[in-house]
Amino acid sequence: MRIENDPKLDFRDVLIRPKRSTLGSRAHVEVERSFRFAHTGGEWTGFPLIAANMDVVGTMAMARALSRHGAMAALHKHYAVEELIAFFREPEAANAFYSLGTTEADHDKLKAVHKQAPITKICLDVANGYTEKFVDTVKATREAFPEAAIMAGNVVTGDMTEALILAGADIVKVGIGPGSVCTTRKMTGVGYPQLSAIIECADAAHGLKGLVCGDGGLTVPGDVAKAFGGGADFVMMGGMLAGHDECEGDIRYEERGGERVPVAMTFYGMSSDTAMKKYAGGVARYRASEGKTVEVPYRGPVEGTMLDLIGGVRSAMTYIGAVRLKEMPKRTTFIMVGSQLNTVFGS
Ligand code: 5GP
Repeated sequence: MRIENDPKLDFRDVLIRPKRSTLGSRAHVEVERSFRFAHTGGEWTGFPLIAANMDVVGTMAMARALSRHGAMAALHKHYAVEELIAFFREPEAANAFYSLGTTEADHDKLKAVHKQAPITKICLDVANGYTEKFVDTVKATREAFPEAAIMAGNVVTGDMTEALILAGADIVKVGIGPGSVCTTRKMTGVGYPQLSAIIECADAAHGLKGLVCGDGGLTVPGDVAKAFGGGADFVMMGGMLAGHDECEGDIRYEERGGERVPVAMTFYGMSSDTAMKKYAGGVARYRASEGKTVEVPYRGPVEGTMLDLIGGVRSAMTYIGAVRLKEMPKRTTFIMVGSQLNTVFGS
């Protein structure tokens, strides 16, 4: 057994220190960013936020809505081949990832869709990106799809970030345990504070011209600013996008003033009992559920939430004098607050 003593940070443990700047107004900052993918040489420009490939939020409607803001969605894994072919022929599909796991059936389905509608962005997604099998899957996918940008994960440490980039990933997805409907930390004791995971994985990835996507644990727009300040090239979120019209969750209605109004919507982890019952006929005996099912307030169209998110990042950039999103890590100084102060000063 070993103990690592350096403090590891979550979003709530830090704030961003304001800095002097010559920036006059938040209208002068540029929130769109261009990226070059290391393995394909292709480029993408937009607001680097991705809706998680979860049942309720990784929907085609979400992909279309976020695309209007220059953002992206990773589609959930449960659309039928015909639906996917029709979708990936739309122009908005340029801002969508096709998501899959590591099974042969997953790969056969991707190939069937790709034959009819070329897939340019692939999200290879497993709960634990530390297995040799996963590295082999990334390599095989890179060989089979040399022109597609590949995002792969999840991992939380620099060594494994490097391994996935060298195996063929352009973007490494970072996060084990921070998700709003994730119970991995409680069920297994495994995890890594998300801001430190982003900082450490970004450092490893950028040395190899790779990119990272901070996945999970973002609860307010300020967390997105902290993730970008910590070096995340992209962020992925589920909970913050749940409860909107573009989601596929069950809606609960209430009678108010003689009218039936939507008040809440279901949202669940992809390894929750709900998801496993839906797709795998229940939780297998050898594994425990590592996700939960919750009800979130109904929030109408996602438009308002996206404007808040982009507005929060824009304002953070103004406070630290970053004209372009790319400058955020250079202009960010985190100050430790709250629980970390207790660790540092032992109170
Ligand atoms: P959120 O933005 O809701 O905090 O986190 C979304 C992320 O949580 C997803 O992108 C995914 O990485 C992770 N996630 C989704 N479902 C589950 C689950 O059932 N268990 C675990 N451990 N993580 C999940």
